[in-house]
Amino acid sequence: MAPAVSLGTLFMACQFADLLWPTLVMLGLEIVEIDPGNTLVTPLNFVKYPYSHSLVMLLVWSMVFALCYFAIRRGRAGAITVGVLVFSHYILDVITHRPDMPVTIDGETRLGMGLWNYPGTTLATESAMFIIGATMYASVTRERDRIGKLGLSALVATLVAIYFAALWGPPPPNSQSVAIAGHLSWLFVLWAYWVDRHRQPRVRRR
Ligand SMILES: [Zn+2]
Repeated sequence: MAPAVSLGTLFMACQFADLLWPTLVMLGLEIVEIDPGNTLVTPLNFVKYPYSHSLVMLLVWSMVFALCYFAIRRGRAGAITVGVLVFSHYILDVITHRPDMPVTIDGETRLGMGLWNYPGTTLATESAMFIIGATMYASVTRERDRIGKLGLSALVATLVAIYFAALWGPPPPNSQSVAIAGHLSWLFVLWAYWVDRHRQPRVRRR
């Protein structure tokens, strides 16, 4: 739909809620607790995160993100794509989380289908989505140089390694360390921008 949008922007859009969240946890505006077994996949209890993860706020962030993209880049397909990606975080988190996803900022209603209580299904679903996404990006772009090729391979390998480390590793010691580690997600946004600068959209032949 929008092959010109940088992989870095795509990462920032789909992860926007999770990029905002560690900062809000540090500021004390949102609350997370360590609770091994909260779901079988994550040891985190998301006590309160209405600004980063409510349906209402993700609609707002989605529009803000799309408008900012349009103001800077002027592409309509790109703006719609990144806007939809920002909101897709809500849908995917509702599918995976236990019922802890707020609908409004201060309402009591919380949604969640708890896919994370089924590790096998989680692993199959998330792996399939990752493989489809990585394949799609690799097939609609091609490398300009060696960095475009090796940088992408290294990015994919690191994401896979971190995924399994989080799945099978020990729970984090406290919520502050979760917030600090959460900020490291920005490094992957930068990494994706860097890789994308060394790749270009593949011209489709008819
Ligand atoms: Zn999230």
